[in-house]
Amino acid sequence: MGIEAYRKAAKDLIDWICDYYARVEKLPVRSEVEPGYLPPLMPRKAPDAPEGVEAVMSDIKSKILPGLTHWQSPNFFAFFPANSSFPAMLGDMLSGALSVMGFLWSGSPAATELETIVLDWLAKLLNLPSCFLAYGPDGNLGRGGGVIQGTASETVLVALLAAQARVMAERPAEDRQRLVCYSSNQAHSSIKKACMVAGTTHCRLILARPELDYALDPADLSAAIDKDIASGLIPFYLVGTIGSTSSCAVDPIADLAAIARKHSMWFHIDAAFAGVTAMLPEMQHYFAGLELADSFNTNAHKWLLTNFDCSCMWVQDAEPLKAALSLMPAFLRAKGNAYDFKDWQIPLGRRFRSLKLFFVLRMYGKHKLQQYLRHHIALGELFAGLVRKDNRFEIVTPPRFALTCFVLKGPLGNETAALVDAVNQSGRAFMISTELSGQTVARFAIGGAQTQQRHVRAAWQLICEAADGLLATARAET
Ligand SMILES: *Cc1c(COP(=O)(O)O)cnc(C)c1O
Repeated sequence: MGIEAYRKAAKDLIDWICDYYARVEKLPVRSEVEPGYLPPLMPRKAPDAPEGVEAVMSDIKSKILPGLTHWQSPNFFAFFPANSSFPAMLGDMLSGALSVMGFLWSGSPAATELETIVLDWLAKLLNLPSCFLAYGPDGNLGRGGGVIQGTASETVLVALLAAQARVMAERPAEDRQRLVCYSSNQAHSSIKKACMVAGTTHCRLILARPELDYALDPADLSAAIDKDIASGLIPFYLVGTIGSTSSCAVDPIADLAAIARKHSMWFHIDAAFAGVTAMLPEMQHYFAGLELADSFNTNAHKWLLTNFDCSCMWVQDAEPLKAALSLMPAFLRAKGNAYDFKDWQIPLGRRFRSLKLFFVLRMYGKHKLQQYLRHHIALGELFAGLVRKDNRFEIVTPPRFALTCFVLKGPLGNETAALVDAVNQSGRAFMISTELSGQTVARFAIGGAQTQQRHVRAAWQLICEAADGLLATARAET
């Protein structure tokens, strides 16, 4: 494809993308295709001769679009949001086009240095303690700083590997089998997976307390640690969560940090979704004690208008990370290359991901970003208020960060799952359920970049209509 052909095709594609965004609200949110829908529509092998972009786009429209669930629909209330924005898309387009590899500083100095700068900007925006900044007040690089990982799951693993490198630095190799990782059973599944990948045999997922709104009780953690130490095991890694995936539970960070300190454990904070609210003064109380954490993570690709993937991780001290992930022993590392990001991550290759965040932070600015989060938090309060006023429903955990968890009360006890199904089958909204204390709970997560009050009200209307139908049927059956 020549430059002029690309210029034309790319402009056409932008037109198509703009039209898509203009009409995405009207599309059924959840794809209704059956598994295996696509192979019968596709050739069995790639073409031998070149095809034109029109042919490709025609298949995109007729065959791919029906298989999409529209995450950017303002009626998407499932999982957590996966924000996109036009500024981020501009940065991402540029990153794709420039196609530089940033694993070594020298591979593209700007890619490494901009990432460090942008993560310092974001750290300041989020009021993170200065120990997480890369550049000190003197303008020199310190021991820690930020790095963009692909996902929060990778971050959990990378932090685990750093924790392991740190604790094992002065221990015999056979001690590895004695290492214990801790978090609550409400923490993200990536912790268990990280243990599987790293070969950490002891992974304690401590039962969170329903009476603490599903937070980890520090006393339960201490008891588990004491028991493990008594049987000869070595606590080395603790993950606290701010905004759990199920119900946005928040662990008591300062208390957990004190326990981690006492036992010289690496303390990682997973705030994949809710961490961005640290930029709001009224949310600061959730983040007290952050300066005692070794690493902190939040995903700009969830609720900060930055297209996937952009998982922002900060460490106070990058040395254990490099000890775990550097392919060269520290003494061979070239001077001045403190920031070869290949040593801060698992893969070698890395995209110029900071560009999209650079566009977002500059083109929105602090005030608009704060306003954006507050808009969703207010919509969450509006939604929770509607649920609360309706005695057919019950809210099961305090609504937080624009997430509301609730049940539909009915005679059969299974009405909530049916409610979520009915809403999703309508195509007019998409939400999911979770399980808390063995109970199926509907989860309404607000945070779509295009979501306005009218979408939340329409979804509530839909939920009420579905509830009417289900309760009438249930009553007829009992
Ligand atoms: C979404 C989420 C994750 C996983 O995020 P990925 O970036 O998809 O790996 C981890 N932890 C929490 C609390 C989350 O909400």
